[in-house]
Amino acid sequence: MKITHLSVVTLDYTVSDDAGEVLDTTEGREPLVYLQGSGFLVPGLESALYDREEGDSFELTVPAMDAYGEYEESLVQDVPGELFDGMEVAEGDTFVADTDDGHRPVTIVEVSEDFVKVDANHPLAGMDLHFKVTVQGVRAATAEEIAHGHVHGDDEGCGHHHHHAHGEGCCGGHGHDDDHECCGGKGHAHDDDDAHECCGGHGGCKH
Ligand SMILES: [Zn+2]
Repeated sequence: MKITHLSVVTLDYTVSDDAGEVLDTTEGREPLVYLQGSGFLVPGLESALYDREEGDSFELTVPAMDAYGEYEESLVQDVPGELFDGMEVAEGDTFVADTDDGHRPVTIVEVSEDFVKVDANHPLAGMDLHFKVTVQGVRAATAEEIAHGHVHGDDEGCGHHHHHAHGEGCCGGHGHDDDHECCGGKGHAHDDDDAHECCGGHGGCKH
């Protein structure tokens, strides 16, 4: 069957940057299972999957604006060092900040005497992403999956999964929270503390 809105899709993928460096891949892991149309994947990848079917393989370049957005200089800010009082901060550290836009992953780019320069851009903002994708399976979603907006496992419903983050290892997807450092998805973490360092996306309930 072809992928339509609300299909449950199983994908293998590899995503690389312009230099060909692999950012994330399902190789050696479980494939990604997600609900088409739920916004789990980055928009450019999700829209390219409509009408594909099991066995289809394709390559796709998703421009930054259809992936994690353009890099915005305005999201780089100096904040007073005293806000980090008592915390060890070092360049390259990431943490989840409580902002007007909700929880966002923030990277410390510079620590000086009075200020800490932070960057709230997604780590993949401004990057064109190069995907290699193989559709491994397509099925219709159950009513419960549609109601929840995510995929459940083969033999079980959501139940005990709900205290876990949906969207572990994310990167193809788009989360409810933006605290993912991933790539293919933006994930569906229900758990704010669960920052992901991932990239291809692993939606649905964890097993
Ligand atoms: Zn559920």
